[in-house]
Amino acid sequence: MVEDELTSGTERDPTGAHHSVSRITLHQVLSAGLEGALHHGKEFERYARAADGTVTLHFVDGTTATADVLVAADGANSRVCRQYLPDATRVDTGIRAIAGKYPLTEETKRRLPTRLQDGPHSVLPPSGCGMFIAPHELGANYAPTERGIGGNDETAARDAVLFDNTGSYVMWAYTASSAKYPHGDAELSDMGGERLRDMVGTLIADWHPSLRRLVAESPAQSVSLLPIRTSVAVRQWETSNITLLGDAIHSMTPFRGIGANTALRDAQLLARSLIAASRGEVDLLDGIHDYETRMIDYGFAAVRRSLRTAEQTISTNRVGRSMFKAALRVFSVIPPLKRKVFSDLSSK
Ligand SMILES: Cc1cc2nc3c(=O)[nH]c(=O)nc-3n(C[C@H](O)[C@H](O)[C@H](O)COP(=O)(O)OP(=O)(O)OC[C@H]3O[C@@H](n4cnc5c(N)ncnc54)[C@H](O)[C@@H]3O)c2cc1C
Repeated sequence: MVEDELTSGTERDPTGAHHSVSRITLHQVLSAGLEGALHHGKEFERYARAADGTVTLHFVDGTTATADVLVAADGANSRVCRQYLPDATRVDTGIRAIAGKYPLTEETKRRLPTRLQDGPHSVLPPSGCGMFIAPHELGANYAPTERGIGGNDETAARDAVLFDNTGSYVMWAYTASSAKYPHGDAELSDMGGERLRDMVGTLIADWHPSLRRLVAESPAQSVSLLPIRTSVAVRQWETSNITLLGDAIHSMTPFRGIGANTALRDAQLLARSLIAASRGEVDLLDGIHDYETRMIDYGFAAVRRSLRTAEQTISTNRVGRSMFKAALRVFSVIPPLKRKVFSDLSSK
């Protein structure tokens, strides 16, 4: 593979450009101002409804909390969802990604083409696998506190390694169907970062040297296996004072990069409904019902599109794959078209 085969973004308009957001920083910023309201270390186990309609949450440490409304935002393995909507399921797509991070320092930057540092790229060889590459570089105005960018340091203090957002890096994720890997699933999930990284190195042995360096020089502890799952669309249920948002209801493959964006959209929409209800402007259950109707529609549309992109990434159909590559190239050089596609997506 030659460097020209890396698709490239050439946008100059900052509103159409790629902006990487550290999920750690986002977490800290979203937690800011919630000191005292946010309780760490509480593992939700189950809920029970009382006769007066309130919901009591039971935590693993034996404590409880009672609420008028329960909003499940507990991610793809949501226990609330399992109890509330037992028919909602997630399925294995059979796709496995192996992801790692190449740290960007003054020295390592010189060892990698600037092209791999200036925006996201999709590498699509003729058949059966792909690699997504995205830089995350701290801005010139970055002013770290002792633990990171700040926001809510209580959150950062929970796990100094997990919540370290003080470094720049290029993230890569190699993707293929499980059958394409030289090891079975059981062995893959037992493999540590070093073996996973070496195996990807072997699988891309005939790729461009810069891509091989990106993988080979990523620290083993940054490399991990991601089995790719997706949720199955659910029919709308009877609204109550328990509702769900984000991955808890519509988890999707990461191939469109819209899971967190969709979760934020849910949060904004639901917050508006709850605020309106608290002001007496709408009935509480009507507000939640309106949110759920819209969320189910655009949320599962995002799930379907994310699955389709995942399937195109690992497809062995050369014609369909060439069309997919051509579409990615066109999107990256025609920003208004890209924006149109993504705005169509978010309005569905
Ligand atoms: C490799 C990868 C790359 C991605 N890239 C992008 C991207 O570029 N753009 C994008 O928009 N999305 C991306 N996503 C998707 C995004 O990460 C998710 O959609 C998003 O994090 C969902 O947010 P959430 O708040 O619903 O769930 P989560 O972020 O999973 O948060 C759930 C929270 O609930 C907590 N929790 C879980 N169970 C319990 C329990 N029993 N008790 C108490 N707490 C609990 C968890 O600890 C966690 O803090 C990516 C995902 C992956 C895997």
